[in-house]
This record gives sequence, structure tokens and C-alpha cells, in this order.
Amino acid sequence: MTSDTPQPSLDTRLLIGGERVPGLGAAESILDPATGERIATVAEASPEQLEAAVQAAADAFEAWSQTTPAHRARRLLDLAAHLEREAEGYAALESRNTGKPLQAMRQDEMPGIIDVFRFFAGAVRVQTGPLAAEYARGHTSMIRRDPVGVVASIAPWNYPLMMAAWKLAPALAAGNTVVIKPSEQTPLTMLKLAGALNDALPKGVVNVVCGRGETVGAPLVAHPRVRMVSLTGDVATGQKVLAAAAGTLKRTHLELGGKAPVIVFADADLESLAAGMRVFGFYNAGQDCTAACRLYVQAPAFERVVDAVTQAARTLTVGLQTDRDVEMGPVISAEHRARVAGFVTRAATERHITVTTGGQSRAGAGFFYEPTVIAGARQSDEIVQREIFGPVVTLTPFTDATQVVRWANDSEYGLASSVWTRDVGLAMQVAARLQYGCTWINTHGTFAREMPHGGFKRSGYGKDLSMYALEDYTVPRHVMVRLG
Ligand code: NAD
Repeated sequence: MTSDTPQPSLDTRLLIGGERVPGLGAAESILDPATGERIATVAEASPEQLEAAVQAAADAFEAWSQTTPAHRARRLLDLAAHLEREAEGYAALESRNTGKPLQAMRQDEMPGIIDVFRFFAGAVRVQTGPLAAEYARGHTSMIRRDPVGVVASIAPWNYPLMMAAWKLAPALAAGNTVVIKPSEQTPLTMLKLAGALNDALPKGVVNVVCGRGETVGAPLVAHPRVRMVSLTGDVATGQKVLAAAAGTLKRTHLELGGKAPVIVFADADLESLAAGMRVFGFYNAGQDCTAACRLYVQAPAFERVVDAVTQAARTLTVGLQTDRDVEMGPVISAEHRARVAGFVTRAATERHITVTTGGQSRAGAGFFYEPTVIAGARQSDEIVQREIFGPVVTLTPFTDATQVVRWANDSEYGLASSVWTRDVGLAMQVAARLQYGCTWINTHGTFAREMPHGGFKRSGYGKDLSMYALEDYTVPRHVMVRLG
């Protein structure tokens, strides 16, 4: 396929009030990050179209919020069935738009995306809460959990369809209506899903608007009829969203960045660690808020771990989405690659740091950056403190558990972490002291739909996945009846 050749089945129209309509705002080129070629042009929503989308969601709320959990569950199961039937098409489109290996999309992401809809279809039918009872004499109290209203869902570019699924499934299961905005760089799978959403749901229940953060995201967040904003994105974007939401006191649900510490004690199974780092350090080219990017290694094992992780990174197959055995693709854009390269170049000027492998952009087309390992980084270094969001892993030696817990927690982020040791008691003690939404022990980066995902500190708050997400998208209410 040459540049400017649209994919035959690509529908770039927005979804507003049950109608597929072309955007009337500025046009955005959508690129294949592996080649830099343009795949499509998507026009963003005009201010009038954004207004119509919010209005449609507000109009649809009354009827949708009064459907039964079983009814909404059936709609979610229809969407899951659609995604399963069309999994290959979604995987190909997402992989083209993000540069991810097609095989990873097929094997890892699509099954998880489908299961999110299935999980929330079941979960909404079995919610629990305190018992109805006469807590005040002569009065019966009961708890309801009701939907919030119109939810604005704003997704990032690193896992476009998965993040859309994490936002849509609990919001819809709970009875909310939604206006969703994919990232301006990766709208294609959301636009494909718009067709299925339109078939499965009454008009206006989900509306899809494309566009940039400043032109479409910001007015959507500020809109007075939007009652809740769910953002996955950068910390700086989270701060802007919070400031904008303050005007109308909206609920906010913020999944922001991460800088996951990986704590390796000297007794850990180093073979298993190296194999794990090969995957979790470089998965999605490190563009993952839970990426295993900040290793702390107990001093006696430091050199061995540096060697093992360096060797592991060197054996990664980097290439185009459909290349045989490809394990890592490009990063999302030329601009993002320059940002990643900037961090590594600055780190490499420090005398205590050694770049043991990688550290270069790949020549030629596409936005490739080599898997990179940085040894000897210190706690105060920029490369240890800041989120790189690329295929870059640092290693820092430590002496004891007290020191490493202090360093691991000395971060503005608090999303994910892992502890590697054969000593279960030590692992549990360290896990109990880490200020991270998730701690994995002797693994990293494994998700379960039944378990929550979300952060501490500037990684944000609110949970994706699990029953906790359903709680976030509902409001607990007390209804009291006077007896007699
Ligand atoms: P981003 O913040 O640039 O963009 C995210 C979304 O917000 C996009 O749709 C964008 O258009 C929109 N946006 C930007 N400015 C806005 C504004 N002022 N008002 C409303 N919307 C606005 O993030 P990104 O570059 O797409 O994604 C990478 C970031 O996302 C990283 O920091 C990463 O750690 C984070 N992330 C976090 C999680 C998590 O679960 N915590 C998951 C994935 C990505």
C-alpha cells in the first residue's frame, strides 16, 4: 500500500446521535509509525458537532440509565461477540496505526479487549453492598448505585482500542452515556468500533468525536452537561483536565503516567528476571505506563543482571508489524522518538552511566528506536526520575531493603511495581511498603480483568477494570422509607 492510499474498509466518520457523519473541523493525517506513510485523513469534530454529541448523550441518558442490568449486559456481550468475529480486522488496523507487532495485537490485546466487555456484562449483574435494614427505628434504608450521567472518555495513543474498552465497558454497564475521544494520532480502531456501537446501542448512548486535545478534548471536558471525565494520558494533561473540570465540579477519573520500579534481590531467579525484562521492559516499545523500566538490583547481583538484561535486549527482533517473529515495533511518532532520544543522550553524558546496548534511532523510514539498557544510573538522575515512555531500561545498584523501598517510593509516580526474590516473606514486606497501585512478585505486567488498575500520587486515581471501576462510574445513594 502506498502513502495516501486509504484502506478500503476504513470509515473515518464520527458517530453523533446515531449518525455517522464526517468531521467538519481541521483534518489530521494518520500515519503508520513503521513507515511514516499516511494511512488516512480524519477530520476532527467542529464545535457544533461536539455540542451535538454531548446533547445526544444527555438526551439518551434517561432511557439508557433505566434499562435493566441484564439488558445492558446483553448489549455488551453483543459488542464482545462483534470484536471476536472481527478480531483480525481490528488487530491489523491497530497494528498499522500504532506500529505494534500484529502478532502481539492478535495474541495479547484482542483477547483482553473482548474479555473486558464480557467481564463488565457479568459484573453489573452481581454488584454487592450493605444490607437493607432498619438502621433508624421505624425506617428502612437501602443503598442504590446509580449512573453518573454523561461521561467524557479521553483515550491515549499507546493502547487505543484497549483503553477505549476499559472506559466504555464499565461506563455503559453502569448505565451512563458516553462521548469518547480517541487520541488524534490513533483514532482508527475507535472509528471502526463506532459502527458496531451504533448497531448495538440506542442512538446517542455512545458518541465518538475525533480531534486534538486543545480543540476537542478541552471543550468536551469543560462542557456543563458532562458529569464525569475519564482520562488516560499524560500527567500534564491530567492537571489541565482537573483545572477545567473544577469549573463545574465534575467527577474525574485519571489514569496518568508511570515509572515502575523493579526491585531485584540478589537471591532472585535471574534467568526468569532476564526473560521477564525482555518482555515487560520493551513491550509496546516501552510505551506502557506499567513498563518495567526502573530496575534496582541488590549489589552482589548487579553486574550479572546488567549482563543478562543487556543480552536479553540485544536478542529482541525489531521490525515492521507483519515481519516474521517481530517483537518490537517503532515508537508512535518522530516527535516522540526525539523526546526518548533526548533522555538517553543527556543520560549518556553522565560519567557514572554506561549505555550497554542501544541508545540510537534506527536509520531509514519509520520511528524506530533501539532497545536500550542504561547501567549505573543514580536515584537523582533525570533518567531514573522521569517517565521516558520508550524502549529504555535503567539499572541502579542498592544495598538493602530499607534503602530500595525508599528509592522506589521516591517518585512522583505510583502506578506499578515489582519485587523479585525467592524469599516470600521479604517480598511481602516490601510489597506492603510500596506506594504503587499494583505490585507484582516475580513477574511484571500481567493483568486480570477482575483486578483493579490505577495509581497513587501523580499517576492519578480511580480504577480501571474490576468491580472498583463499576463503583467509579456510579454514585452510591441512600433511599430511606418511613414505615407505617
Ligand atoms: P496525552 O495526555 O498527550 O493525550 C491523552 C489524550 O488526552 C488524547 O486523546 C489527547 O488528545 C487528550 N488531551 C490532550 N490535552 C487535552 C486537554 N487539554 N483537554 C482534554 N483532553 C486533552 O497522552 P498520550 O501522549 O496520548 O499518552 C501517553 C501518556 O499516557 C503517558 O504519560 C502514559 O503514561 C499515559 N498512560 C497512562 C495509562 C494508565 O493507565 N495510567 C495508560 C496508558 C497511557
